[in-house]
Amino acid sequence: MGRKVLVLNQDYSALSICSVPKAFLLVYLSKAELVAEAEALALRTIDKEYPMPTVIRLHRYVHLPYKGVMLTRQNVFKRDGHHCQYCGTTDDLTLDHVMPKSRGGKTNWDNLLTACKRCNSRKGDFTPEEANMKMRHKPFKPSFIVFLREFSGVLDDSWMPFLTTKRERIYD
Ligand SMILES: [Zn+2]
Repeated sequence: MGRKVLVLNQDYSALSICSVPKAFLLVYLSKAELVAEAEALALRTIDKEYPMPTVIRLHRYVHLPYKGVMLTRQNVFKRDGHHCQYCGTTDDLTLDHVMPKSRGGKTNWDNLLTACKRCNSRKGDFTPEEANMKMRHKPFKPSFIVFLREFSGVLDDSWMPFLTTKRERIYD
């Protein structure tokens, strides 16, 4: 079962996603309630039919600090649409430190950009300005929900009402 379930906090803000079995367990243990289900996809056993959860809501409020997207090479590529942010190619991608590491540039969302090997070596130990290379987008830290919505491709229509910008602010 590759389907995912959106988990809402007690105040209906989006919290995370989990697997269908995990969602069943949370509902079964009365830790969460069913908010939305996929009607066409009920789970049938011999004598019973269970709704397939798509959105559940926790009964207790969970306090979380910034729920960040893990900083990985693949996630930086995803954020940047798998394009070199200097020349636009999709080949030979690597990570570029906008402010070079050798000059104190940090390894974080705000300083990492997808770049092809050619652009990366052309840029060398320079900043984009010094190397006269234009960035298509500045690096940024994606919020968890934006990341879900824009990049992961696992979204379910029933999640949409809970993924509005208004609710995102708790993650920033
Ligand atoms: Zn390039």
